[in-house]
Amino acid sequence: MASTSLVLMYGGTFDPVHNGHLRSALELTQVLPVARVHLIPCQLPPHRDQPSASPEQRLAMLKLATADEPLLVADDRELRRPGPSWSIDTLESLREDYGDQQPLAMVLGWDAFLGLPSWSRRDLLLEKAHLIVIARPGEKQPASEELLDLLDQYELKAGEALNAKPAGRILRLALPSAMQVSATYIRRLLSQQASVRYLLPDAVINYLFSQGLYVPVDKTIKSSHA
Ligand code: ATP
Repeated sequence: MASTSLVLMYGGTFDPVHNGHLRSALELTQVLPVARVHLIPCQLPPHRDQPSASPEQRLAMLKLATADEPLLVADDRELRRPGPSWSIDTLESLREDYGDQQPLAMVLGWDAFLGLPSWSRRDLLLEKAHLIVIARPGEKQPASEELLDLLDQYELKAGEALNAKPAGRILRLALPSAMQVSATYIRRLLSQQASVRYLLPDAVINYLFSQGLYVPVDKTIKSSHA
């Protein structure tokens, strides 16, 4: 095997990226042997409303947020692919880059894991990668029978290491600095013209203000005439 370190795919809408995403990505590199975390904004999310910021703006915010962190990489591969951003296609693209033997894991929050039964070609996911499911504080919804069966079958057992195999296991993790922040909450604060400081990097805050993102339309018009 070429490498025993894990490569992580951390996909999302990132509308905008915030410290909940960034801190959990960083902590994953501290608690697991991780070679790289690919933070991948989707082009068109298949399962939810369309984002407020464009794909290019969401990528730009991710680049600013990860500029000083060598293990975290803002990856534009879903933006280069037309149509809905299916995770299985992204995993296949990462497999093309890293080969079949590389331990590869897809990271998702508990809320995203709950939506897994509706994902495209979900049966293939565990053939292509491990899943790392991270707890989100405040997220209390239980798993469906289908997901409980999946956990029963594939959850990593005590003494097993995720990086011992290329794919096929599920690891549930509660990270030390788990944060309750969400992009929805940040967009709501911005729409109310309330401060979002300390919830996301200053560079991202400066960028979203410079682009007039997430602020009420009348405020954008006023500030552009100021
Ligand atoms: P929104 O509020 O718009 O739904 P979000 O904050 O949930 O956005 P996404 O871009 O949709 O962010 O999430 C991408 C991935 O990051 C998902 O797997 C999600 O579960 C996870 N995630 C989001 N926020 C956190 C957080 N605070 N802690 C851990 N994981 C998170």
